[in-house]
Amino acid sequence: MEARIVTLPGDYIGPEIVKEAVKVLEAVAEKYDHSFHFDERPMGGASIDVYGEPLAAETLDACNTADAVLMGSVGGPKWDHVEPSKRPEKGLLALRKGMEVFANLRPCTIHPQLAGACPLRPDIISKPIDIMILRELTGDIYFGKRWRSEDRTKATDEMAYSREEVERLARIGFEMAKKRRGKLCSVDKANVLECSRLWRETVDQLSHEYPEVEVSYMYVDNAAMQLILRPSQFDVIITGNLFGDILSDESAAIAGSLGMMPSASLGKGTRGLYEPIHGSAPDIAGKDIANPLGTILSGALLLRHSLGLEAEAAAIEAAVEKVLNEGYRTADIMSEGCTKVGCTQMGTLVAESI
Ligand code: NAD
Repeated sequence: MEARIVTLPGDYIGPEIVKEAVKVLEAVAEKYDHSFHFDERPMGGASIDVYGEPLAAETLDACNTADAVLMGSVGGPKWDHVEPSKRPEKGLLALRKGMEVFANLRPCTIHPQLAGACPLRPDIISKPIDIMILRELTGDIYFGKRWRSEDRTKATDEMAYSREEVERLARIGFEMAKKRRGKLCSVDKANVLECSRLWRETVDQLSHEYPEVEVSYMYVDNAAMQLILRPSQFDVIITGNLFGDILSDESAAIAGSLGMMPSASLGKGTRGLYEPIHGSAPDIAGKDIANPLGTILSGALLLRHSLGLEAEAAAIEAAVEKVLNEGYRTADIMSEGCTKVGCTQMGTLVAESI
């Protein structure tokens, strides 16, 4: 297959980790006889330096005509003085909006080799944990109206959802559950919020189209607790923007390492935006010590969800497992008896395992 992938390395460790993910994708292309064309563009602070803005119109155009977009991370002290509306992170919001990616996927798995980094008790994680959190990304209280009273002593943020917004997200969740273990848990606060009642009604109606998927509903406060007490009960979780923001960070903490976690943001078609969940880590940039595995695993999600290359995606995931099994670790996940490697060497090891 031929595919055009826009890469947006971004700032600080961004270029270091994206370089390694590209190395791994190139190894996949060679082994499986595909042709991936990489189109690198500046983003965030790097784009401010070139265009004076964090996301140039031509960069967004390139993203919207590509098959998929792979991003590193943006921001850092160099651009802290920039006026708020032009900060690197604004480019990220503009990119998500401009690409109309409304579903954010955050897989949460515990690599058995890294179980020591998980803050939960061993008996809690003795059963396999493989959760896919699907967070709505372009609606909810983050995009509603907000205002202050004239005397500045009261503030209001509006939470709003439409049936269409809920349905398009839920549909992705049901499709995903069908391909996984057939379980979907919808998380809301329907005992209090009208938006949540609309959410639940919509999911319930849609569930009739997916009789093979077992649906459950959970209030968000209970879900936050259950993720800690019995994480193995979950397969796919769907939830709104605000609750998803919090639960997906909680799930990242369960997985133990920021550097290992991939993410995908999807819209209506197959085009998607793929990035690790961490930031640009200015404190370790330029030292060749960043963990590139979150970005490499984001590359696996890209192959699976945008290019439909399941075997190739699984090959990347298996290669990462193999390298971890062989005891190679970057500094952030290092433990006794393992071999410490840098960012470049970790990328090379995974590429060679492909
Ligand atoms: P961060 O995620 O960059 O770093 C937090 C800590 O985790 C640091 O100690 C860092 O060294 C470590 N870390 C992060 N990624 C790592 C990796 N791959 N390997 C090893 N260690 C890693 O969060 P921060 O320090 O709060 O933010 C730094 C900058 O990144 C800020 O400008 C912030 O706005 C930006 N940011 C960007 C994104 C994004 O691009 N999506 C997300 C979060 C933060």
